[in-house]
Amino acid sequence: MKSFYCALLDFIFPPLCHVCRKYIPQAGKLHICSSCRELMPVPSHPLCTVCGAPFAGAGDDHPCSSCLRDPPAFNAARAALIHDGPGRSLIHAFKYNAKTYLRRPLALLTVENLADFVVPRCPDLIAPVPLHVKRLRSRGFNQALLVGELLAREWRIPLHRQAMKRVRWTEPQINLAAELRRGNVKGAFSVPDASLVAGKRVLLVDDVFTTGSTVAECSKVLKRAGAAEILVVTVTRALN
Ligand SMILES: [Zn+2]
Ligand SMILES: [Zn+2]
Repeated sequence: MKSFYCALLDFIFPPLCHVCRKYIPQAGKLHICSSCRELMPVPSHPLCTVCGAPFAGAGDDHPCSSCLRDPPAFNAARAALIHDGPGRSLIHAFKYNAKTYLRRPLALLTVENLADFVVPRCPDLIAPVPLHVKRLRSRGFNQALLVGELLAREWRIPLHRQAMKRVRWTEPQINLAAELRRGNVKGAFSVPDASLVAGKRVLLVDDVFTTGSTVAECSKVLKRAGAAEILVVTVTRALN
């Protein structure tokens, strides 16, 4: 009987690829066809052991020069995809065109690609990077929270949406050159209740890692509030 209903559902709502809209007979949970998957590169080894930046060529993972010179407050950051091709298109449609249903394929790809990084490190809680209330009102949702909720469900880690707060309005990072981004987010975040994070392993979640200024600033504030360890997970990572 179940297969009859599945067939009926497929007839009414044919499973289409989220990227190219082609019909996928065996869609699975992800709903992205194999041709589009091939166009979604993952950051491949060797990587920076701290910020997760991929290096060209072969060799072992090691810290990059930037992380050696100026270590970020987080312990390690990883992204599920390179911010390019269909991965970037999905993020844009999700975030700027309010296609919030796209959080599901983006979160599923993150779970698939980053389980080996996250699960053995046993984070105690997930903290989504917060939006300023003014941006939240204009966008209507916090993309980091929407993805974080699904990661929390898949990985069975409690999510605390109030773990961090955005206390200062900042210019969108996307409009700023790399060297201005750090100053732009300085003092933008707070931890309203330190007892929530003190002594805990925190998994900080955001949609895109560009220069890492936002997650580094959040991590600084979390560490100041007593967080023991901070892991950062983003859906995509820009290649600088
Ligand atoms: Zn496709
Ligand atoms: Zn690095």
